[in-house]
Amino acid sequence: PIGAQISAANIDNLSQHFPACMSHLHRTLRQTGHLKHYGRLQYTLFLKGIGLTLEESLVFWRTGMRSKTDDEFNKEYRYNVRHAYGDVGGDGNRRGGGYSPFSCQKILTEHQPGAGDAHGCPYRHFNMENLSTLVQAMGVTDQAVMRGVREDKDAQKYHMACNRVFEHLHKAEIKKAKDEGVLTANQLETIVHPNEYFKRSYLLKN
Ligand code: SF4
Repeated sequence: PIGAQISAANIDNLSQHFPACMSHLHRTLRQTGHLKHYGRLQYTLFLKGIGLTLEESLVFWRTGMRSKTDDEFNKEYRYNVRHAYGDVGGDGNRRGGGYSPFSCQKILTEHQPGAGDAHGCPYRHFNMENLSTLVQAMGVTDQAVMRGVREDKDAQKYHMACNRVFEHLHKAEIKKAKDEGVLTANQLETIVHPNEYFKRSYLLKN
């Protein structure tokens, strides 16, 4: 089961299964020891969606936001993490177990990132140069794939670019699963949610 693997200490390792949006948030957090509010929200809810418990999430954020003192963390950030999990906050939020992880649609269209923000969808919100750097860091070196990503981006087909990268990074596993006849129809549909990207990647690689 995936659950046993999902801990604060294992997120670096699990991040190999993250789509570009979450990969960028993770890299930024590790590089700078900080993420701004909306990036933290997008990333917290994604991690919750992959099965990170509230306790582990608090450990992850306390160590991750290393530019902050314990005091600052407890005052300014702990509440937001608990709120995202529905542990504190209004009744509706609490009853529903907090907020749901954001879909691609929401990430693509709401809360446009400004300067210094790391949230959003890189296929839409990055320029091509920064997008190339990120996608290469995720393991894509094939020039034909990069050309495809550029064309998708130019045509504003951001999902297509993301699915193209997914298919490339999991080419061998997808082929094997197809040959063995274990790929379900659902697994062949276009990915439209970062948590679906993670789940599919994790299951294919494990
Ligand atoms: Fe993330 Fe969706 Fe953009 Fe892919 S298409 S990077 S999963 S927001």
